[in-house]
Amino acid sequence: MTDIKKEIEELIGDSSLIEDINFEVSNVIIYTKNKNFFLNSSELIKSIVNKERKRVEVRLDPSLLEDGEESKKIINKIAGDEADIKEIWFDKERSTVSIEALRPEAITADSRRLMNEIKEKTGWSVSLSRYPIIKSDIVKAIREMLYANSKFRRKLLNSIGEKIYNSNLEVTDKYWVRISALGGFRHVGRSAVLLQTPFSSVLMDCGVDVSNQRELAPRIDAPEFDISKLDAVVITHSHLDHCGFLPVLYKYGYKGPVYCTAPTRDVMTLLHLDYISLGNKTNSKLLFDVADVKEMLKYSIPINYKEVTDITSDIRITLHNSGHILGSSMIHANVGNGFYNIVYTGDFKYAASKTLNRADNTFERAEAIIMESTYGGDRDQQPSREEAEQFFLDIITKTVAKGGKVLVPVLGVGRAQELMLLIEEWQRYGLLPEIPVVVDGMLWDVTAIYTVYPEFMNTETKRRIVEHNNNPFLSPIFRHTVSEEERQQVLSGGPAVILATSGMMNGGPSVSYFANLCESDKNAVVLVSYQGAGTLGRTLQNGGREVDIELNGKVRHFSVSSLIFSIEGFSGHSDRDQLERYIHDMKPKPRKIILNHGEESKILELSHYLRKRFRIETVAPHVLDAIRLK
Ligand SMILES: [Zn+2]
Repeated sequence: MTDIKKEIEELIGDSSLIEDINFEVSNVIIYTKNKNFFLNSSELIKSIVNKERKRVEVRLDPSLLEDGEESKKIINKIAGDEADIKEIWFDKERSTVSIEALRPEAITADSRRLMNEIKEKTGWSVSLSRYPIIKSDIVKAIREMLYANSKFRRKLLNSIGEKIYNSNLEVTDKYWVRISALGGFRHVGRSAVLLQTPFSSVLMDCGVDVSNQRELAPRIDAPEFDISKLDAVVITHSHLDHCGFLPVLYKYGYKGPVYCTAPTRDVMTLLHLDYISLGNKTNSKLLFDVADVKEMLKYSIPINYKEVTDITSDIRITLHNSGHILGSSMIHANVGNGFYNIVYTGDFKYAASKTLNRADNTFERAEAIIMESTYGGDRDQQPSREEAEQFFLDIITKTVAKGGKVLVPVLGVGRAQELMLLIEEWQRYGLLPEIPVVVDGMLWDVTAIYTVYPEFMNTETKRRIVEHNNNPFLSPIFRHTVSEEERQQVLSGGPAVILATSGMMNGGPSVSYFANLCESDKNAVVLVSYQGAGTLGRTLQNGGREVDIELNGKVRHFSVSSLIFSIEGFSGHSDRDQLERYIHDMKPKPRKIILNHGEESKILELSHYLRKRFRIETVAPHVLDAIRLK
């Protein structure tokens, strides 16, 4: 038995109260057959939590739980109608019931009383989540899949805990901390950073390079990467350049956990499945298949912002809002029990948007920061958000007046939902005439996931959804298109704003819309996201107007007459000033800055500038470089 289990037994003092002690990662779960202890031990548990500094929870032994159907009735009665409960799932292995409600806040307002009443009358411990207000097959499938594997999950969570607590960690003078650049250094794409100590090996992000088929994968062939010794993967956000290679790890036999926020898990799964279905349509060779994505899901462990979690015996992580897309995180890693602290920013925006709050900048400790540099070049100043909004509004107004259409190629997640909220607001305030906003294909599925997690959104938007029950994504202006027929209807109809993937126009519906719209000067194309080198988006951005496009296997030539605009101000990335301000405001100040996720020239400019400005050691590693941090 691990020491922590022994200590807890001693603190409880009566071993007959304990049926079993289990781990769920680093949380300790005590199963009891004593109903009185189950219901009335909260003071004792609080003192144990304070002493051990671990989350500890008491649950009733599965043999004593009220049966499912009866419990459902009791729960519905206790919760009342206001919460609008849609699903109730029982996880008998872990004595927990998951309640999915359209308005969980109706329960959380008085949660302690309700949860206790449910515990008292049924024996189940409650976990509460939001049911998607826009139908989402993916959210349903993910939740079903997790419940179906509950036996496996209980074992997995426990075995991770055993591993964390069983090792005899000692931070001696031989201890070291090192990172290896496996992808996304002096470059944008295939982000992957390996963090290692004598005891642990953790991969932060595992992306693909969507614009470069030759060097698509992170360098998992590096000598220090050994998949059989990998303890954990942590994913910052669901863009494929940060998570697109993850299912391949499972295909190659990785059998460990992947940590991320719940929205990242859901959107990432959706994007993986979308990649497979797109690949099947175009007969391309796939990196992974559905079975690998399912395997990944079985091993996924959602964590919330600011929830401190031990993931190995000597690495403790906390995720912080990064302001980039829904659920996007910075990873704070406390290594060797305070020996060294690293912040890995992932992609971040140091400014608030309609959908998200500004990236967090305060950490308990931070000796080093690994920071993205997408817009780190000397001339990478973005226009202000106000200017960007005005410019975009002008483009739409003028195009609509001409009877044209505005195509906005977007990444599946992030800008699309941001622009949806913006246009909804303009129409609500009468700044724009009522024209449909076409939300193509899987963008709608991503939007449905947005509606599940208002807790991860901008404070104002969250308040509107949660407190005022007024969800802007439900506005009737949004029109969802899936089939070619529906797309043709949009194309032959009147003025509209069309949001479609992919953002860089290297495939997907944005390209076929473009082919239909680009030869008329009535129409406009607005590029709002980063355009990778070699993509159609970059060609257009650079003024290219004679383009060859592959459609249904045939290459066709187009002379572009439609107007092409680039608006940088909506970017989910910080611009040069925001990157600088981030370091300026960061608490505490790091002693070392490591730059990644940017084109080489920009990274070098930023590195030079930050070194001079802050007198902090700033480095720009190459892929395959390893840096000993301490
Ligand atoms: Zn991103």
